Amino acid sequence: MDLTEGSALGVFSCQLCEVSSPYSFYGQKPPNTRAIVLLEECFGIKDPFSPEREKFLILGSKCSLCSKTVCVGTDCSLFYTKRFCLPCVREHLDQFPEQVQNELLRKKSVQKSTSS
Ligand SMILES: [Zn+2]
Ligand SMILES: [Zn+2]
Repeated sequence: MDLTEGSALGVFSCQLCEVSSPYSFYGQKPPNTRAIVLLEECFGIKDPFSPEREKFLILGSKCSLCSKTVCVGTDCSLFYTKRFCLPCVREHLDQFPEQVQNELLRKKSVQKSTSS
């Protein structure tokens, strides 16, 4: 493994799942991009699989409620005007719009119905 290539600032790791990966920027503006401004401060890295300089991957961000570092995986967090980790979403579910509630409920039932 060669994690020293480029300029990794450190290692991002999700506090909910075991995902971890070196990241090369944190903030709303990925380096080497012209017009991209992200909706949230997040951890990201240049896409190692793309030759284009402007391609990058978002690894994760901080929950706006509990400040946990969480990955963008749909099992760990969701973005609704801000980043929320799923435990916080569940805790405050009644404060989210129906659309978000439904999405979460659907997710739960999808996981349960994979018995075949
Ligand atoms: Zn995660
Ligand atoms: Zn949270």
